[in-house]
Amino acid sequence: MSTQPLRRLSAAEATELARSAPAGTCNHCRPFASPGWTSFPATASAAELEAVGALWLPGDDEPTLDESPRPTGVDDWSAAAPISLVHRPYNRCEIWACRHCRLPFLRYTEYGGYYMDLRIRELHAERLVR
Ligand SMILES: [Zn+2]
Repeated sequence: MSTQPLRRLSAAEATELARSAPAGTCNHCRPFASPGWTSFPATASAAELEAVGALWLPGDDEPTLDESPRPTGVDDWSAAAPISLVHRPYNRCEIWACRHCRLPFLRYTEYGGYYMDLRIRELHAERLVR
């Protein structure tokens, strides 16, 4: 985990990253491949990814806890779950990219009562909604 402050990314910049992404993972980022949210793989080297920026920075106003509407039968772990950058949890995400092929990933830390779960999801343009 870097201690460098992350660059702020607007939703428009994140959308552009998604649109210019390669079609799939490369050998380096394949361990992170997940079209839906998944726990950050403990066995993979996070050094294959580098931080691009964040949609929320410490000191910003608390973003909304509202989630975007999902189609019936689609939960938020699903690969079919929409990515709405203004809704939870995307409005608190960091965006990382593969150092080799630039495939972008969303990263989010879920804080529970007694646990912390690092989550990662590929940032796919076709899942983006307004
Ligand atoms: Zn890659």
